[in-house]
Amino acid sequence: MIRRVLPGFMGLHVLHHASGGEVTGKLMMEELAKHGYKTSPGTIYPLLHRMEDMGLLKSRSEVRNGRRVRLYRATPRGEKLLREAKEKVRELCMEILRE
Ligand SMILES: [Zn+2]
Repeated sequence: MIRRVLPGFMGLHVLHHASGGEVTGKLMMEELAKHGYKTSPGTIYPLLHRMEDMGLLKSRSEVRNGRRVRLYRATPRGEKLLREAKEKVRELCMEILRE
């Protein structure tokens, strides 16, 4: 069960950060590590690519310190999904954390 839910949480987390500004795979890995998620380039990059294919993220590449990096940002569709997901998360949290 938790294995099925986690990718969704990770995707939501990516959307959350990518809606406030641009993120890189490396930054998302550091961010997720802060929350206790162990990720690797082998999980984060395919997730970012899938989310871009789904139209939730848009990327561009830039050269930083002589290295090409890809920057991701939420699309209007990604922002909409994030808003809808937040409602669901709020509802669920209110129910399961009440007491
Ligand atoms: Zn975070």
